[in-house]
Amino acid sequence: MARHSDFFQCEKCGECCKGYGGTFLSEREIKRISRYLNIDSASFLRDYCQWSGTQPLIKSSDSGYCVFWDEVCTIHQVKPRMCKIWPFIDSLLIDPTNWDIICSMCPGARTNVNSKDLAECVRQVLAEYERQWES
Ligand code: SF4
Ligand code: SF4
Repeated sequence: MARHSDFFQCEKCGECCKGYGGTFLSEREIKRISRYLNIDSASFLRDYCQWSGTQPLIKSSDSGYCVFWDEVCTIHQVKPRMCKIWPFIDSLLIDPTNWDIICSMCPGARTNVNSKDLAECVRQVLAEYERQWES
């Protein structure tokens, strides 16, 4: 059985919390994070989000990092799907070579992994996410 740690061990460098994009938010996530911050959804969208067309995503601060990055993720318990599943993203199931791109930006991702085992691990992570957060 594929284990996370065979593929990835986070080094807490914050690289994946830098730059624009990725942290798109569903309605459920907006409510969850707003509740965690003890504010209403409208305030959360106004103060912590930016828009890509009609899609809200978490905005970056002037430093270029996500507004919730402060040496650690300050909303770790309720962070969005992309952050929770990272680096086991859905697109690896379509094209396993995406792992090479992930390895080039994430020092915690191990190189030279077995694609079949990696795909199994991705499926486990995504299924676990669904069980824990979407059911
Ligand atoms: S880039 Fe990789 S190692 Fe660095 S914080 Fe993000 S997940 Fe962890
Ligand atoms: S929500 Fe947390 S894990 Fe996600 S990008 Fe922001 S600081 Fe990083």
